[in-house]
Amino acid sequence: MATATLSPPSVTPPTYHRIVSPTLTIPSDPLKPIPVGLLACQRDPLLRELTTTAVSCRESPAAAPPSNGRENKKKKKAAPAPTAPLLEIILHDTIIFPEGGGQPSDVGILTSSDGELWDVIEAQRHGGHAVHYVRLKPEQKVEHALQIFAPGALVGVALGEEGYKRRLDHACMHTSQHLLSAVLENKLNLPTLAWSLTAWPTPSYVELPRGMSPEEIASAQEECNRLVFEGRSVHVEVEELHDDNKQYDTPSVGIPDDYTGGVKRTVVIDGVDRNPCCGTHAPTIHNLQLFILPQIETLARSSTSSARIYFLAGPRLIAHLTSSHTLLASTAAIMSCGAPQVPERVQQIVDERRKATKRVEDLEAELAASVAERLLSSVAHKAEGENEGGSLVLHEHRTDDSVNALAFLSAITQAFANKIGEREKSGEKAPRFLLVLSSSPSAQTSASTTVVLIFGSDDKKAKEVGDELKGKLNVKGGGKGTRWSGKFTGVWKDGREGAVVASIIDSVRM
Ligand SMILES: [Zn+2]
Repeated sequence: MATATLSPPSVTPPTYHRIVSPTLTIPSDPLKPIPVGLLACQRDPLLRELTTTAVSCRESPAAAPPSNGRENKKKKKAAPAPTAPLLEIILHDTIIFPEGGGQPSDVGILTSSDGELWDVIEAQRHGGHAVHYVRLKPEQKVEHALQIFAPGALVGVALGEEGYKRRLDHACMHTSQHLLSAVLENKLNLPTLAWSLTAWPTPSYVELPRGMSPEEIASAQEECNRLVFEGRSVHVEVEELHDDNKQYDTPSVGIPDDYTGGVKRTVVIDGVDRNPCCGTHAPTIHNLQLFILPQIETLARSSTSSARIYFLAGPRLIAHLTSSHTLLASTAAIMSCGAPQVPERVQQIVDERRKATKRVEDLEAELAASVAERLLSSVAHKAEGENEGGSLVLHEHRTDDSVNALAFLSAITQAFANKIGEREKSGEKAPRFLLVLSSSPSAQTSASTTVVLIFGSDDKKAKEVGDELKGKLNVKGGGKGTRWSGKFTGVWKDGREGAVVASIIDSVRM
């Protein structure tokens, strides 16, 4: 059984590009550039290579091509140091599409007559011409480039493997956008206000005057895919651009004000849509199964409101399915269940986790109170029956793998303070005290952190002990009032760091 693939036809059908005006011809003078609108990439979107001639070459005054705000990550990564010189080359013809109509620029490779390869990192339309931005490699010199790309010199233009993949993706997403916008307009009376061909592999979006119900999304998607299965063809009609044919009655980005190529280009999806556009479209919508993401993003702007709906098609849809499936399958493996059980299992774990967290909190509170009670029970009294609260100076070290060990130490001091408060209420005198609490993880390395908390009835003494810890153990910290906290980095040993603490508090007299 034949299965659908994403391979486009290997050649663009001859009926794709139609010059519908008897007076319009493609300029043939090799020293003059063909205007944007009639470029080889627009006549034949599946062409991967072309031999043409150089029209002009100069060193770009800018270190980076003017940003189109849609910088491709891969391209950025591949580009050498941004300080490398940049050339601006205009060719008689090109298959490297200059950014326009919402479609980002292609990337590609030029071959000069001596066989050297030159990286085109971006192409842009300046007025009516495509300008190729070539980033020089370290061994390539500007003087040599100016010679080899002299007017009339032969130049090979290629998209290369990466460039062709990028082209195919852009063509699929752009043509799908025309299809989706036409269906939304015709079926739901929803005009497309704007759209964005986002960077691979994220979903692209169309902006609409309002959100869509799940039923509307389903019906728009079904209608698009019905047309896809019919395999409607796509072609382009080109004629001269006059003042009186600049206006279109279809919703569209339209013809840019600075466009001086003199050509009006209409992209037609057979029986579905006619739209002015300069993009490199797939010659058929066959295989462009369209998926609309069910989430809607509502945008509130000062004067108007609009909504974005995201969509995927072509290679981007396959990439999305692959990554979604991989994520789901690996989550199912972790949960030891089938993919359909994943939401239920995750919910169960989240619920269990919530209960476990609550139980740990309750047990910590109970333990903190118990530790505080034990500490308070070791308050020493000078003499039996003496009418005073007694005194307590001690260091208590704990081993705790909590992510927030200081919080537990704090809970102990809080419980300690509460218990003293209770005793005072019942008429007892409060003891004078200074507690040094510390807590280390069970497995320590030179990068481990031991937290220290000092709590005392006398803020001056708490600060004094804190300062000594700073000086003798390099504990980084500070405090306010009766509390002082800090962090020690390294391995904390009872017989070493513990002994230093003991010697410090030994001299404290309460
Ligand atoms: Zn378009």
